[in-house]
Amino acid sequence: MLLSLLLLVGFIFTSWISIEHAKQSLYHGISDDALLLTSHLVDLDLQKRLQAPIIVSQQMANNVFIRQWLQSEQRNSDLIFTYLADTRALHQARTSFLVDDKRLTYYHANGSTEQLDIREKQDDWYRESLHSDSPYSLNVDIDPRDNSEAIVYVNHKIELDDEVLGIVGVGVLLADLHHLITQYENTYERKFYFIDHKGRVLFFNDTVLSGTSIHDHFPSQATTLLKQSEYQFIIESQSHTKFVHSRYLDSIGWHLIVEQKVDKSNGIDDILTTNLWVGSFVTIFILVVAHLTFNHYQKRLEKMAKYDKLTDTFNRQAFEPQLQHHLAKSRNQSTPVVMLMMDIDHFKQVNDRHGHVVGDRVLQCFATVCKRQIENNGLLCRWGGEEFMVLLPKTTLDEGIAVAEKIHIALERAECEVKVTVSIGVAQYHIDESEDGFIKRADAALYQAKQGRNQTKFAA
Ligand code: GH3
Ligand code: MG
Ligand code: MG
Repeated sequence: MLLSLLLLVGFIFTSWISIEHAKQSLYHGISDDALLLTSHLVDLDLQKRLQAPIIVSQQMANNVFIRQWLQSEQRNSDLIFTYLADTRALHQARTSFLVDDKRLTYYHANGSTEQLDIREKQDDWYRESLHSDSPYSLNVDIDPRDNSEAIVYVNHKIELDDEVLGIVGVGVLLADLHHLITQYENTYERKFYFIDHKGRVLFFNDTVLSGTSIHDHFPSQATTLLKQSEYQFIIESQSHTKFVHSRYLDSIGWHLIVEQKVDKSNGIDDILTTNLWVGSFVTIFILVVAHLTFNHYQKRLEKMAKYDKLTDTFNRQAFEPQLQHHLAKSRNQSTPVVMLMMDIDHFKQVNDRHGHVVGDRVLQCFATVCKRQIENNGLLCRWGGEEFMVLLPKTTLDEGIAVAEKIHIALERAECEVKVTVSIGVAQYHIDESEDGFIKRADAALYQAKQGRNQTKFAA
């Protein structure tokens, strides 16, 4: 149980650690590398796309003809309309325009004019552009003069000696940039948001202004996000983790937000489950193998500890507790117990004449003969050298003597390599005597038997 617990805990722990590690490196990869790089790439690409309208607007603002025209008293509006239409056509812009600051007249490339009212909300853009620190500003708007399409206007100030004469510029379709974003989204499988200086979300969901604000998308992070030039955060939900990176684009004045969603069921947790399954199987397998191996060796060790290797009889170590057990039982239940102390006669001569190897085989043969006579009625122990002891529980002295006699006869008939005889001392246990006393009496009986050899004597 402990082993399985250790293995299982080990497997769970190492699996969990490696999964967490994999997750961390995936998350680090996304937040530290992937989002940063993508944001940088999109920034560069967008700058490239908006560079042309910005440069065109810059050129218009520095155009000598425009400046002279704005300063002259006698003016022909047709000249401006032609200029605006030509510029629009030349640069494939969606629209182009000029505002004369002195008269607050808006000249549109389609040949129309309009009076601006800077107190009106719809003309906020004009005031904002005039007061902007930068010579130009970008503004996304839906203008009825341009078919109510979302347009990115580049509003460039026309300045002369710290005086603003007006604002001029071109507009490009927001939808054109939207294609770019769709392309990014498909390529990088990430979501892109652009937040203009008013906190409006551009390019999101549709080609026109979505009308949503950054606060709708990231209510708790929006304020910090708009203040920082670069900001990064993670939003956790039950099913996925959202990594968000925001960057302020200086040249355009917008915030670019890149968002990547990672499903929580992104395969990593499946790996954990698989790991645990495999781990459990391996654990069970190891346990079964370990159990079988341990059992096998345990049995071998037990056998080695209990039995004499040569004769396959109990050794003294294993026999003594058995002897104590049976003597205790005899005392409690008043049942007779008999001991046979046996010593092979002239065994030294067997060794001397035939060698130790033959001697060993004779010992084995003797043990086999004894076992056969005792069967399951008693225990046979190799007491040491060529001395053996038999313990016969629930046996009287007479029955013990009969067993000894049977051993003599069987040994006589046995076909051992060298014929041997044995002397046997028999004693019955006295309930009040000690274990040592009992053995001593059996030993004394054996000593008597040794006087004639090949005979049995019993202790009184
Ligand atoms: P006795 O009739 O008086 O018992 O004579 P004995 O020769 O049998 O008596 P002794 O105790 O002098 O000799 C016992 C011999 O048993 C001595 C020893 O070499 C031999 N012996 C003891 N253990 C082993 C054994 O494991 N293998 C072999 N081959 N001989 C053993
Ligand atoms: Mg001896
Ligand atoms: Mg002997």
